[in-house]
Amino acid sequence: MRGHIRRIVEKLTVSESADPANLEGLNRALSGGPMYLRIAESDSDFRLESIPLQAGWSRIGAAVATSFGRILTDCEPSRLRICENSDCLAIYYDETRNRSKRFCDDKVCGNLMKVRRFRARQKAAKIGGSPTPESSDMIQ
Ligand SMILES: [Zn+2]
Repeated sequence: MRGHIRRIVEKLTVSESADPANLEGLNRALSGGPMYLRIAESDSDFRLESIPLQAGWSRIGAAVATSFGRILTDCEPSRLRICENSDCLAIYYDETRNRSKRFCDDKVCGNLMKVRRFRARQKAAKIGGSPTPESSDMIQ
């Protein structure tokens, strides 16, 4: 199922429609974990709770597919991103006002990529080449 989610996000990040086969993969996962809804109240607030009818991996797959489906249907799918750290590639939801978030976590992947760019520039300077500035360096 992870592959279906990734391919859907890859399409969305380039403003393309999701492949029907990937949506069908998510729908298969949803059908593997039937559930019912229940109204609960706490502190005078009401909420709908999803109660699974089964246990096991199929229920977990259905929960993941449900969570991703809620992002697709209740949020802005165009804000889904894939982390630009090639060693991470995590999928995240960009909540920044100008939709400029490039990494899943700026303190982890963002800093790691800064260090890598810095070291690449140092290495290029040592061998006498002139480093090519990346567009991302100019933004920051
Ligand atoms: Zn990341």
